Amino acid sequence: AVAMHQVHKAFGSLHVLKGVDLTVMPGSVTVILGPSGSGKSTLLRLINQLETLTGGSLEVNGELMGYRKVIHQGRQVLQTLDDKAIARQRAQLGMVFQRFNLFPHMTALENVMEAPVHVAHIPKAQAKQEAIEQLTRVGLADRLDHYPVELSGGQQQRVAIARALAMHPKIMLFDEPTSALDPELVGEVLAVMKQLAREGMTMVIVTHEIGFAREVADQVVFMADGVVVERGSADIIDHPTQPRFQEFLQHVL
Ligand code: ATP
Ligand code: MG
Repeated sequence: AVAMHQVHKAFGSLHVLKGVDLTVMPGSVTVILGPSGSGKSTLLRLINQLETLTGGSLEVNGELMGYRKVIHQGRQVLQTLDDKAIARQRAQLGMVFQRFNLFPHMTALENVMEAPVHVAHIPKAQAKQEAIEQLTRVGLADRLDHYPVELSGGQQQRVAIARALAMHPKIMLFDEPTSALDPELVGEVLAVMKQLAREGMTMVIVTHEIGFAREVADQVVFMADGVVVERGSADIIDHPTQPRFQEFLQHVL
């Protein structure tokens, strides 16, 4: 689960997130909608500690991210975690980006094996077996030895999903995973994500795929200008109450 409380993020004088609360229940799917520049990617990057908070707090699975509470002279203070502890926290999260970011000189199988072997130090034979299972799960059992250039965009994105799953994350974060794909390839990636949702994976997804959100989301969050403007079940897509959200939906539907 994710518990975000009054999170602020500024880049210098640019105040990007202005007090965001977000709760993500275990096994649920949260879809984040919002216009360009509203802070959606920044929010995901904060959850994954690719960025540090300017204010507020973030807990993942009950653990405060980035800090440890210590008692100093009888008072509770926050101490910044070292890189190793942050890496351990980050391992709970898998992230998939708009651009697939596969290693171009590695096959699909090698891409998926990379982190288990070199980060998690799992024996190679075992990592290979698990990588084959993950690639099978995303429908690519027949593409193990293909290089990224030999794969379609949709296949590359499915390798990227398998690669994230190979580290057994408790939560998957997706940042516009289908935005860079040709329209005819979007469906195969969404199908894999739907399957993950059915399997009970906790997911936070930034997407403009409104139909997907309507079908899969347990929670929809609409952001604009660094604040949450409206949130609720998938029903709010068909019954938005805030003018800003109504206007946004008219543009994307
Ligand atoms: P899009 O739909 O276009 O992906 P977004 O909602 O994901 O937009 P963000 O990428 O979170 O928006 O960016 C929000 C604002 O923060 C933008 O104005 C952006 O220029 C700014 N921003 C993001 N990252 C940085 C950074 N590292 N340094 C400075 N400004 C940044
Ligand atoms: Mg973005």
